[in-house]
Amino acid sequence: MSDLLRTTIAGSLPRPVWLAEPEALKGAWKLSGEALEDGKRQAATEWIAHQEEANIDILTDGEVFRTHFVHAFLEGIDGIDQDKKTLMGIRDNRYDLEVPTVTGPLSRPKSVHVDDFKFVRSLTDRTLKFTLPGPMTICDTIADAHYGSRPKMAMAFAELLNAEAKELEAAGADIIQFDEPAFNVFFDDVNEWGIDTLHRAIEGLTCTTAVHICYGYGIEENLKWKETLGDEWRQYEKIFPALNESKIDQISLECADSHVPHSVMGILKDKMVMVGAVAVTPDKVETPEEVAATIRSAIEYVDPERILPCTNCGMTPIPYDIALGKLHSLSAGAAIVRSTL
Ligand code: ZN
Repeated sequence: MSDLLRTTIAGSLPRPVWLAEPEALKGAWKLSGEALEDGKRQAATEWIAHQEEANIDILTDGEVFRTHFVHAFLEGIDGIDQDKKTLMGIRDNRYDLEVPTVTGPLSRPKSVHVDDFKFVRSLTDRTLKFTLPGPMTICDTIADAHYGSRPKMAMAFAELLNAEAKELEAAGADIIQFDEPAFNVFFDDVNEWGIDTLHRAIEGLTCTTAVHICYGYGIEENLKWKETLGDEWRQYEKIFPALNESKIDQISLECADSHVPHSVMGILKDKMVMVGAVAVTPDKVETPEEVAATIRSAIEYVDPERILPCTNCGMTPIPYDIALGKLHSLSAGAAIVRSTL
């Protein structure tokens, strides 16, 4: 029975206040040089221990090595002018951001995250997932002055992600997850080329693969956007049919404290479903009973064998103690339901 309802997290966890500016999307490092590298490893060590203590089954490094889930990967890629900033509307103009610009052919001179991953792999024998930004979301977070076509640039990024993923797999990653919040915005693009680029990114991998699709971090811009989406958020309906046909093994969705009708999970009849059972709200920890209620609701549409209770999204921008509390509630809530199955 212990294989049922294995818990996991979307990916990121807050970096400790001594390491980086807290409760910010791109909080600046407070250390530098060797002290910074030591600090990142210390933060990862603590979060691995916290996740194990909280009985999370599928762990991540908490993304504590990165300032931002997309830009940290892009910093290791050639063909991008980090100083040529372009003002760009992000996620269909939900908010504006100054972003770097692609100015030439993209290449990956060496692995970006693999050394950090190897360190984290040495810390735990549990199932370990590594998260990478998805090709479409990268292209919605960087300006293009070279490719002239978003699908073309996304495919170029997918090739580089595939090379990185293969090295992560060789270093012991059990699951590689691609984060694609842009999938919840550009539905036609997902169906026309987004899933093709994901397939390129996972080509040749033998480990489990996953895609995380959410309504974004709990930041003000996203909260305002959510208010415009009405009482029923049916966005997932537009992309889940194609994702169920895809080669990706695990699909995530937001369920906790959201207006997503849980019936959309019924579309993912051939997939493992990462059910968001804690929200990324900065001020409230769900009770285990609330988590259990969300999981029970999911079981109406998905067999418990295919459910992985998860967080709605990354927890980078929320307070450390709140995130820790949410980990404990997540596993306690899953245990409540497991005991009744
Ligand atoms: Zn997310």
